[in-house]
Amino acid sequence: MTQDNLSAVLYGIDDLRLEQRPIPVPKDDEVLIKMEAIGICGSDVHYLKKGRICDFIVDKPMILGHESSGMVVGVGKNVKHLKEGDRVAIEPGVPCGQCNFCKGGRYNLCPEIFFCATPPDDGNLSRYYCHSASYCYKLPDNMSYEEGALMEPLSVGVHACRRGNVGVGSVVLVLGAGPIGLVTLLSAKAFGASKVLITDILDERLQVAKSLGADHTLKIEKHMTEQDIIKKITELLGEDPTVSLDCSGAEVSVRVALQVTKTGGVAVLVGMGKSEITIPLSGALFREIDIRGCFRYHNTYPTAIELVSSGKINVKPLVTHKFKIEDTQKAFDTAVSGEGNPIKIVIYPNRSNV
Ligand code: NAD
Repeated sequence: MTQDNLSAVLYGIDDLRLEQRPIPVPKDDEVLIKMEAIGICGSDVHYLKKGRICDFIVDKPMILGHESSGMVVGVGKNVKHLKEGDRVAIEPGVPCGQCNFCKGGRYNLCPEIFFCATPPDDGNLSRYYCHSASYCYKLPDNMSYEEGALMEPLSVGVHACRRGNVGVGSVVLVLGAGPIGLVTLLSAKAFGASKVLITDILDERLQVAKSLGADHTLKIEKHMTEQDIIKKITELLGEDPTVSLDCSGAEVSVRVALQVTKTGGVAVLVGMGKSEITIPLSGALFREIDIRGCFRYHNTYPTAIELVSSGKINVKPLVTHKFKIEDTQKAFDTAVSGEGNPIKIVIYPNRSNV
């Protein structure tokens, strides 16, 4: 077997290096994966440019990457459900399995969770990587490795919609049409929402949203007041949204969500913006708006895979740029510059041509 395990390692702000790491050996409950597709997430870019997200600080070299898929090439002795040659989507979070959050099923809240490319845990932007077999999901034959990698962001959308109780007939407002807003839109439609309106400040993002099935789009212009935005949303939908999901992290979007959501409805906070913002609380209180946090996901991979495999969701149009691992710096430069309007940039660690 090759000894080549080229990996993309972040040493600090703007210090991304490609270097060799040993090919790991799977523990008894792990599989060794030949990595095939890895999406760049906003958090990878944030660590590169800022060196931290909230209290997660890159204070030692960390391999980036957590939206990934690959082929099983080694199997630990306790692994029963996977074999060499299986194509898998990798859920990047491996919780402790012992705490009350894990036992209750909300394992995304496990304080001990290992999560790829969240300091101090290494990610998997490497040619080879070992992961807990329990958090690797076999891909059906009709799904590609790119689609497998996209099960991670799609999981965020699925979880956000579950948090918002999106279902048949829901009238949904998604604020922000970045990758996360777009997967939330796709999930809301798949969950049976009757109408989805999505907002953004960028025309090109709204065009993508339209092509993915948004019923309405609203461009937020600089001159618009909060009240203008609220009025326009209600006008376009013909009613107030029953569920609003902020996927922008912008203060104004959260403020709009709390005011425009139908009385008795749900506002889900997905976007991670400033840690403290000012919000109009009393209206939300009197109108019994449920304000719900949303962090990563749990038990979403089987659903996300089924939604794509069955054709209910098409994530392929989200992939706009492709790079080989040798061009990782170029891939991140593209993510930072926004050149060519990237939505999802995918890196292929074991391909010489992409
Ligand atoms: P992104 O930056 O690509 O997308 C944000 C979008 O919001 C952009 O298209 C931007 O133009 C738009 N926007 C900015 N200001 C706006 C405004 N005032 N009104 C409407 N739209 C506005 O990021 P992304 O990868 O799509 O992620 C979205 C957010 O979700 C980020 O804050 C990210 O940190 C967060 N996130 C949260 C979770 C979680 O578990 N809760 C998981 C992944 C990402």
